[in-house]
Amino acid sequence: MRRALAVGGSGLLIWMGLMTPSAMSQDARHAIAIHGGAGTITRKNLTPERERTYRDALTRALRTGDSVLAQGGTAVDAVVATLMTMEDSPLFNAGKGAVFTSAGTNELDASIMNGADLQAGAVAAVELVKNPIKLARAVLEHSPHVLLVGAGAAEFAREQGIEFEDADYFYTERRWKALQKAKEKEKESAPGGGTVGGGTVGAVALDRYGNLAAGTSTGGRTNNRWGRVGDSPIIGAGTYADNRTCGVSATGHGEYFIRAAVTHDVSALMAYKGMTVQQAVDEAIQTTLTELGGTGGVVAMDHAGNVAFSFNTEGMYRGYLKQDGEPVVGIYRD
Ligand code: ASP
Repeated sequence: MRRALAVGGSGLLIWMGLMTPSAMSQDARHAIAIHGGAGTITRKNLTPERERTYRDALTRALRTGDSVLAQGGTAVDAVVATLMTMEDSPLFNAGKGAVFTSAGTNELDASIMNGADLQAGAVAAVELVKNPIKLARAVLEHSPHVLLVGAGAAEFAREQGIEFEDADYFYTERRWKALQKAKEKEKESAPGGGTVGGGTVGAVALDRYGNLAAGTSTGGRTNNRWGRVGDSPIIGAGTYADNRTCGVSATGHGEYFIRAAVTHDVSALMAYKGMTVQQAVDEAIQTTLTELGGTGGVVAMDHAGNVAFSFNTEGMYRGYLKQDGEPVVGIYRD
């Protein structure tokens, strides 16, 4: 028996799937959970038409991950396939829809981690790479390193036959206008902070072999400068996965997520304090991150397929799909 339970007010959506441990080890029931960024997302600033577009894109991403898992794909396969659909959409701040830096370029960050063996791959500040999450996976699988940046990462991408696009591909009017607005605003304040991009994407998957994986992809913050890199490509801050605890992907003001090592914190709270995945994400977001002054949220899934969300912003694009179930998609806090 399973039930989904939405709790209003605290931004929680708890999924409880009951499953015996022996069934898990034989043939785990697969699941995929995602976020599409946290921020000031309210019913007031999202038209019904735009809301539908987001819901469709989230549903499409979930169905993609689910079908990879249903065909026997691994959690890593599912995370990459799911995030690629979101990177290919202009709606999200990742891949095609990435925000612009102060120089008018797009600098892309992504990371992926395999909970089975704690292998990880990540890239930061890469340009013109169509699917940064694919490149992160290549770092995991075909390099002895965890994190590659900038021109070196691009060289590695070419060696790996990763697809590039020209700059036009990454142009979206909405993101360009956001940059102009940020530049106007910057005249009144000190430069350098960047403004919230909104729409970072993340996924966590559990495959039928009982393995977890998590991944995150972003264009960072609008008007980024000085080669600023946020939490998304930092293992333990933006992404973490460990079969013994959970997989986690974060979105929000990256500096705070790095300082609080949020995704590792979630895993550690489960490992050392015996918290459930929902208790752990709430402690990391509603207490630690919030007290530090950071904003954002996470999606997490434990090794039994229980999904937990927590965020302290007005909304977070999110959803999950459990084996043989229907996609469940959410946007607002209440
Ligand atoms: N965490 C990302 C960063 O700080 C941005 C976001 O998730 O909105 O680069």
